[in-house]
Amino acid sequence: MKGIYLTSVVASALVAACTPRGTPTVPVPENPTQPLVLPPFKMDTSLTIDRVPPFQQGPLIVWGPPPDGITHPERVRTYDLQHQSTTVRFDWPRQAVVGTTTLTIAGLPSAAPRSTVVIDAGDMTFKSVTAGATPLKYDYDGHALTVHLATPLRADQKTSITIEYDGANRSKGAYFRPARHIVWTQGETEDNHYWVPTYDFPNDKTTWEFYIWTAKGERALSNGRLAGSRTVGDSIEWHWVLDKPASTYLMTAVTGNYTVLQDKPWRNVPIGYWTYPDSIDAGWRGFAKTPQAVDLFSRKTGVPYPWNKYDQIVIPQFQYGGMENVTATSQNDAEILHPAWSEPQANSAGLMAHELGHQWYGDLLTTRDWGDVWLNEGFATFMEQIFREEDLGVDEGAYDRLGAQEQTIDADRRTRRPIVWNKWVNDPIEVFFSGHIYPKGATILQMLRHQLGDDLFWRAMNRYTTANAYGNVVTADLRKAFEETTGKNYKAFFDQWVYGAGFPVFQVSSLYDRAARRLVISAKEVQPRDSLSGFFDVDVDVEARTDSGVVRFVVPVRNGTGEAGTNLKAPPRSIRWDKGNWILDITDFPRSTAMLQYQLVNDDDVLGRIEAVDVLAQRPADQNALNALVRSTRNDRFWAVRARAVDAIGIWGSDATRGTIAPMRSVANALVAATRDPDARVREEAATALGRLTLSGTAARDVMIRLRELARSDPSYIVRGAALASDIRLEKNAALPLAKQLMAVDLWQNVIRTPAVNALKAVGTPEALQLAQQYAPPTAQ
Ligand SMILES: [Zn+2]
Repeated sequence: MKGIYLTSVVASALVAACTPRGTPTVPVPENPTQPLVLPPFKMDTSLTIDRVPPFQQGPLIVWGPPPDGITHPERVRTYDLQHQSTTVRFDWPRQAVVGTTTLTIAGLPSAAPRSTVVIDAGDMTFKSVTAGATPLKYDYDGHALTVHLATPLRADQKTSITIEYDGANRSKGAYFRPARHIVWTQGETEDNHYWVPTYDFPNDKTTWEFYIWTAKGERALSNGRLAGSRTVGDSIEWHWVLDKPASTYLMTAVTGNYTVLQDKPWRNVPIGYWTYPDSIDAGWRGFAKTPQAVDLFSRKTGVPYPWNKYDQIVIPQFQYGGMENVTATSQNDAEILHPAWSEPQANSAGLMAHELGHQWYGDLLTTRDWGDVWLNEGFATFMEQIFREEDLGVDEGAYDRLGAQEQTIDADRRTRRPIVWNKWVNDPIEVFFSGHIYPKGATILQMLRHQLGDDLFWRAMNRYTTANAYGNVVTADLRKAFEETTGKNYKAFFDQWVYGAGFPVFQVSSLYDRAARRLVISAKEVQPRDSLSGFFDVDVDVEARTDSGVVRFVVPVRNGTGEAGTNLKAPPRSIRWDKGNWILDITDFPRSTAMLQYQLVNDDDVLGRIEAVDVLAQRPADQNALNALVRSTRNDRFWAVRARAVDAIGIWGSDATRGTIAPMRSVANALVAATRDPDARVREEAATALGRLTLSGTAARDVMIRLRELARSDPSYIVRGAALASDIRLEKNAALPLAKQLMAVDLWQNVIRTPAVNALKAVGTPEALQLAQQYAPPTAQ
């Protein structure tokens, strides 16, 4: 499963309107970006080592309190569900689920005979419960159907129970969406028993088949292979069969008027995209990279795609981004179907890769209970990162990892908990989206990947995947596979990072002895320690750049301290702690502005250049720091370095106390130049930053002219929206004629209206508020 995914302006637009608003009524260029032409790197030899600031004052992290909740241990199984066959139709007039299901159940090995079995069934009524032709007695409390068997079920014996049921007043499980006459179901975590009685906990695996009825002209998608379809009166019955075992929360049924786009198969595996008949091009665009990802994940894991086919289907008004129903993923239509101009901000490939990753981690190997759900979600997020790195290159892969680390650090500021965690208040879904499962889980796997190297890491992953295929897993199974593959003990690693909480906070210092030509790096851990977070024993990669070459060495940190040195022929120009940012940490490593300037220009690792931007941005009074940031807004080869530098100087320029001094003019000029960046994400950031500047006179006039131009003509409507919003903030009522004109256009995700409305509200004049009111989104239902 994945939460809502879209970034920045697109995400805020989603809140306003959850479904695409049709195609734009103005011509849209298909290929908006210009070729990237940036100057080559130049080494700045004028830099000298200057003053090194002290360590930061105050704590670098204050852990948030643990989340509320009580312990929910794994459910104890009392029988083995081996197969389930269900006939179901969705009754539109009553919005009811009407079905008949037969469960084939076996007694557990060496268990005592059982005279009752409990089947999960939510908000249902029952017409009959039978074994063959024999009616069975049953009790029902609204959640659990207790069936009294005619003869006790003994160990390893089988019985079949058939239930005729009707669910008209469901609180969840199946969702009717009248606008497109679509019904979809959502199981995870324990909701499938609201539309089909079953064993609704992940720690049992079963095969199943569905006979799903639709109106003529509609189709039904479910798990496994389409075994057949037949016309019965005004209806069609679609027969789907899953013949490999899976957990029941992965059952799905979707019905509606769909067009199925069949991509080229991967080996013999058919790959299909189910989209709306009016969204064929957007369907191809949104799902385009699926075969490439199937191939990549098969190669990386050494386990070929483990199911007989892979379908993805877009569904309307979905509460999540996507759901990895085995062989038949549901995807939020707003996240997959997007116009070409909305890229790269719109990123359906990430969602596609995440849900595809689940076909291995989640579906083939399934967490045994929700406390270990990082084995599903951390892994799927990791596979998403692996796909991005392979698809778009190591810089994008590294930036994805950094994003996950930043989310993890934020998570622990809000509320700190270990990855493995089985406490919640009302619903197991509460453990999913705190940041400790998706980004932290992926980050821990990336740390292992870096420690072991790709070859050994993927051998361990292959061992884990092969040993547990079609089964349930807990974290100990993962540790076992890594220990068996490497011959090393991973107890400390898992205790620190998975069963324990938090991460190390380092204070790092460097000393270069010019006489001895020796560099020494010292580190200590200063994070608050308690029963959940101790010291983190880690080996940290350090890199020093000098005029006579690059030197790398490792600082082993044990029991909270570490120190290591290396011979260096020339003084260090820059020093990286944790080269490559593989370790989840916060580091305070005071270095001179000159060293950070050097790092910003010369580090081959994009995360080193971003670190330099972030640290230089904290030195607002330092003219050299500002100049370095201004230069990197146009010189860096990676868009996110430019975007972060743009954001940093924008914040600098928004400080009214700086007045109209010369640097303000250079900031404004740099931001205007950045609105011509080849990457729309940088242009969006620049357009937004310009709206925060405190300018007057000709400088202000030049900025407004550029913003108006951008709002009218940028190839990306997302950039146009950001530019219009900034123009409104600066020009106030004078911007209203342009705003009226641009807001009249109906666009995907309201990418112009939403930021414009926010800006109009901020301006707050009666005229601005009146225009905002005209386009205010309807209040949420
Ligand atoms: Zn997921």
